[in-house]
Amino acid sequence: MVSRVIPVDPFDLVIFGGSGDLARRKILPGLYRRFWDGQMPEEARIIGAARSEMDTEGYQQFVRDAVTEFVSKRKCDSDLLDQFIGKIDYVAVDAKGTDGWEKLAGIMRDGVVKAYYFSVGPNLFGDIAERLHRFNIADEDARIVVEKPFGHNLETAKALNATLAEHFAETQIYRIDHYLGKETVQNLMAVRFGNMLFEPLWNAQYVDHIQITVAETVGVGGRGEYYDRSGAMRDMVQNHMMQLLCLTAMEPPSRFDPDAVRDEKLKVIRALEPVEPVDIVRGQYRGKGDDYLDDVEDRGSLTESYVAMKIHVANWRWNGTPFYLRTGKRMKARVSEIVVRFKEPPHSIFEEDTGQSANELTIRLQPNEGMDLTVTIKEPGPGGMRLIDVPLDMTFAEALGEEAADVPDAYERLIMDVIRGNQTLFMRGDEVEAAWAWTDPIIANWTEREDRPKSYEPGSVGPEEALMLLHKDGRRWRELRP
Ligand code: NAP
Repeated sequence: MVSRVIPVDPFDLVIFGGSGDLARRKILPGLYRRFWDGQMPEEARIIGAARSEMDTEGYQQFVRDAVTEFVSKRKCDSDLLDQFIGKIDYVAVDAKGTDGWEKLAGIMRDGVVKAYYFSVGPNLFGDIAERLHRFNIADEDARIVVEKPFGHNLETAKALNATLAEHFAETQIYRIDHYLGKETVQNLMAVRFGNMLFEPLWNAQYVDHIQITVAETVGVGGRGEYYDRSGAMRDMVQNHMMQLLCLTAMEPPSRFDPDAVRDEKLKVIRALEPVEPVDIVRGQYRGKGDDYLDDVEDRGSLTESYVAMKIHVANWRWNGTPFYLRTGKRMKARVSEIVVRFKEPPHSIFEEDTGQSANELTIRLQPNEGMDLTVTIKEPGPGGMRLIDVPLDMTFAEALGEEAADVPDAYERLIMDVIRGNQTLFMRGDEVEAAWAWTDPIIANWTEREDRPKSYEPGSVGPEEALMLLHKDGRRWRELRP
């Protein structure tokens, strides 16, 4: 395969939590895929760091197993894998103590990009940031990558930002939201700002409403303890869905550069109106043998595994066009998509009942990343003017061929952006805080009222009340189709 990627600068990437689940399933396989694609320079080095005592060979075997398990067989060429493994090192480091830090400092090289991935719990972020300086391995060009959750509310997010700011400038901090690394999410910007066709119509005058759906078929099983303290609002809406909403609603940035894009996203969050309780539906899946309460410690849990809401972006562009968001676990299908539903033509020249309806642009994040635009045409054949909606489907795999559609996974793209020093697809501190400032009162209201989530059948489309949320506005959710 002829690679079109340009290698990044030489780097030392240290993964704190290098033996953890995220490193095993996402970060290490992603790095291998970038290596396979020719994007990793000769001098690149990846250093796992965690408390577990392991020698380099032991960690290299861990990485080899992770790559073999999570990278497609087609890419697991044994020579290439051996070369990749040659780049792997390991140092046993205690983030809270001093063990291992001298050794880590001793192997970090000068003259290469230093990136530190904090793939550990947020309670360790401050300790690691402080020690990177204490042991003199964070120069002005060093970058840190921090994982979600970024705070539990506004107060904790502010505290986390303040802690990181004691040791690193904002330009060095990369807050990951892996939704931003998805190909289609970036394509949303390409479609909006790279064409003349859509942007003039992208406003309340022509758009009836927008739906953003992130539906999962899995439940919380296994992550019950974490999830029960979080819920759908914190786990999905405050971060991922808010980012999708921002990219859909924002004004055109003047340039595709980190601060220009993030300034526009921030303006959207600040323009969000508080959501009225009648415009929110919380749900919890309940069903024999598959009950939320069986998956969590707290049998009386009031945590939501589903939330749907109607949101208003209070600015000129979106006045009167609602955004409907829904996300849930144990739903009928695994679907993430943004649907822009345009208004119907103001006047029909055809007879009634011709079947004419409105255009819909769907941006699918998963499965089958791609876009789909429905247009109304005449049904072929005799029998008068009957109209039908047909899809102009642009599934990447079909439109661009399997090879071109074999796009990098979100994590690998984002890690390479860190090495390149490009923050466009990372959240800025003020964005995260603004999102919490909007989310906090909603959650506080539920807590105050001891709001009980509506129950819904596992494998369904969510609580009945969520259907009513649109129904009362004369609209309906797009069918959840895998
Ligand atoms: P995990 O499987 O529990 O791994 C935690 C890692 O941190 C292990 O490598 C552990 O190794 C290391 N560690 C713990 N205490 C340490 C210390 N004092 N010093 C140095 N290393 C220490 O967690 P994870 O699932 O990989 O998640 C990591 C972070 O990513 C969390 O913030 C999580 O919320 C976030 N995240 C995870 C996922 C996911 O899919 N897993 C998705 C999104 C975000 P030792 O025990 O050997 O020290």
